[in-house]
Amino acid sequence: MKELQAYAREFQKEMNWDIQTVNYETTKSSLMNNYMLLTTEVAEIAEELRKAFNFTNTQINNGMNSEDAFRLAKEEIKQDVGKEMADCLAYITKMANYFEIDLEESFYAKMEEVKHRKNKDIKVIRPKVDSDLIE
Ligand SMILES: [Mg+2]
Repeated sequence: MKELQAYAREFQKEMNWDIQTVNYETTKSSLMNNYMLLTTEVAEIAEELRKAFNFTNTQINNGMNSEDAFRLAKEEIKQDVGKEMADCLAYITKMANYFEIDLEESFYAKMEEVKHRKNKDIKVIRPKVDSDLIE
């Protein structure tokens, strides 16, 4: 991750896409602009998921079972969803670099915090699947 952040720093500088820091107003505007671009990229991941579900439904309507249809849809979107995730990472690393945040350190610290969180009443309840019903 450190390597990735260093690459992103050089890339942003080379493209002149780094956070503009002339004064407070330009910094604020640049951060907000990059935040908006990040949220746009997050929405593009949703768009890829929508494509996958539509593709799956088309295959199901053509007689394929849902598991095979979704497996095929996953392969269909894999490359493009990867690109959208990379776009998100580009904006996240740019903002992390601006704030001088070590993302790797921050990630592991946050995961430890989540693991030991006191509020454990939010648990994931999964629906029963056919295999659970077989004795
Ligand atoms: Mg994109």
